[in-house]
Amino acid sequence: MSKHSGRLLPVHPNPLPDELLSSWVYRLAMSNFQKIRSFTQLLLDKRSFWARDMDRIATNEILSTIAIRAGKPFKDIKQTTLRGYESIVYEEFGEGAITKGVLAVGMYHRVHKRFGQMYCPKCLAESPPYYRKIWRVAFVTGCYKHQCHLEDRCPKCQMPISFNRCDNVDRVFPSALTINHCHNCEYDLSKTSVRKLNAYDAHAVGVVTRAINNGWVDIGINRIVYSHLYFKALRKIIYILASSKYGGKLRQYFRQRDHFKVREKPLGELEKQSLKARSVFVNPSVWLLSDWPYRLIQVFEDAGIERLPLHIINERTLPYFLDRVLKVEFVKQPYTPSYEEFISVEAYLKKIGIKVNNANISGILGIPSQTHLYNEYRKRASQPPREPS
Ligand SMILES: [Zn+2]
Ligand SMILES: [Zn+2]
Repeated sequence: MSKHSGRLLPVHPNPLPDELLSSWVYRLAMSNFQKIRSFTQLLLDKRSFWARDMDRIATNEILSTIAIRAGKPFKDIKQTTLRGYESIVYEEFGEGAITKGVLAVGMYHRVHKRFGQMYCPKCLAESPPYYRKIWRVAFVTGCYKHQCHLEDRCPKCQMPISFNRCDNVDRVFPSALTINHCHNCEYDLSKTSVRKLNAYDAHAVGVVTRAINNGWVDIGINRIVYSHLYFKALRKIIYILASSKYGGKLRQYFRQRDHFKVREKPLGELEKQSLKARSVFVNPSVWLLSDWPYRLIQVFEDAGIERLPLHIINERTLPYFLDRVLKVEFVKQPYTPSYEEFISVEAYLKKIGIKVNNANISGILGIPSQTHLYNEYRKRASQPPREPS
């Protein structure tokens, strides 16, 4: 334990609405006029804070230490982490390298190598500038408040956003470079030209943002689903849209109608993709999941998709509302009559004096002839009934 443990920091601003842990800790250090690395080392008894993606993996012990020193309730500080999205964006937090729905930043020597930290130029222009938690969600592509696209890199030098490195500008004193600057070329990110959302992208941003804020989604008339189930379903639709064979027909459908710019390149792991690569699949998928289930059925039909193979949708954990529609509408499994149905059709044929054979039984049932099933049922029917034990 450090001799400073438990002592309240002289200046301890509250986290701002939807503020990300690292953004708040950065501001906390600056408010106390300290370099961020020495500040967290002192606070956390030499444990490293900036070398890993603490917004995703900070332990309760680390959070509790910071909360005590800043004089804040533990639950408020935990809410600043991406763990706070448990049962909202994803079902349960896992210790794996990727949390579903949460963008990976690819931390390497305290610098982000991936484009997993997004921002809205207009939000960053507000005072004080700070980073929002929602800017790390893979399904989010725009700012609901400003109705513009988010950005995932510096428009000047194209580097990923790594705001913690803004403090590296001066070796001794806390940096004068505020958090809204590019750590690499010092460009003011709040000056990035704003790209307005079109109606379709605005719809997707609205649905996803409300899902995160409310914890549920209204996908059709009186059809409410929990947000983490919605995002699980959305992820599935995204992968169907991006798949090589079946997605091709869907992508062609969208291209012909000019709703969305759906690209042809395959999509890798969603959480590791750039904003541009994600948004062309995420936003049309949100649209497909609206007006449930009529829009999806209609679009698949218009795109010429009559069936989907089981390997595409056979996922044990698929939300029921999606599983049911995909299986009923797009997995045309041959209908298999039960033994009881077979017996009653056989009795019916005998009664009306028509020969009992495979073709006649199939004809009455309205199915293609299934010889092996016919033989199996005939064999079973010819066996003497078993005495009840
Ligand atoms: Zn904004
Ligand atoms: Zn830059």
